[in-house]
Amino acid sequence: MPELPEVETTRRGIEPHVIGRRIRRLLVHDGRLRWPVDAAIATTIAGHAIKRAGRRAKYLLLETDAGTLILHLGMSGSLRVLPASTPRIAHDHLDIELDSGQTLRFNDPRRFGSLLFTAGDPRLHPLLRQLAPEPLEDGFDADYLWKITRRRAVAIKQLIMNSRLVVGVGNIYASEALFRARIRPRRQARSLTRVECARLVRAIKATLSMALKVGGTTLRDYVGADGNPGYFRQKLYVYERAGKPCRVCRKPVRQFTQGQRSTYWCANCQK
Ligand SMILES: [Zn+2]
Repeated sequence: MPELPEVETTRRGIEPHVIGRRIRRLLVHDGRLRWPVDAAIATTIAGHAIKRAGRRAKYLLLETDAGTLILHLGMSGSLRVLPASTPRIAHDHLDIELDSGQTLRFNDPRRFGSLLFTAGDPRLHPLLRQLAPEPLEDGFDADYLWKITRRRAVAIKQLIMNSRLVVGVGNIYASEALFRARIRPRRQARSLTRVECARLVRAIKATLSMALKVGGTTLRDYVGADGNPGYFRQKLYVYERAGKPCRVCRKPVRQFTQGQRSTYWCANCQK
């Protein structure tokens, strides 16, 4: 699944191709995504220039004078910048054709992605309004994590993956950050000490920044905006390494299921 680093990598990849470009037309080849794509968007958005390519959590925001396109890649979506004449392949559902002759093409085999539109401030859209702090911004710090963990008995891994508390820490990065912070994924959130909160915040920021630097994680369904896969996977400490030696202590990496997701950890390194 594209996680925050993949979405931010996509944003950076498309940005130079879309800023200042007019949307010639929006083509909805198949609008049966997570929510049906409203056909009226095409009429509203046509002819307007993209002023900004932003991101909030895993939503890409293409802002124009008429309003903002809100795109989510879902479980398996990807956006590519291509010449508009490029023949479509299976699962190419949307084209945002630009006056440059290029198109932003949305491909999504599993259809959990979405395209929505808002004429108002996208940050006030119902899907975005309630979102928690961005993990790479200053608002997410040791004080904040300390505060939100005090009364919560939930496992710390589940807490950092809760998008009402912090956005964009998906399954891979949660396992990796807890390994870096040397904290067991099943620990009750409220059991973390102040020092551990600080360490975990640093670990989350470091894990996401590292992933961003290399362009996201290599996942089966993920390709960057330029069509190249990310290369983060080679640097993973524990994720999908069950039974393999821990990169720090050489003891086998363990795996269990937590909230229907696989968690990977080292019983020797994490306390
Ligand atoms: Zn270890």
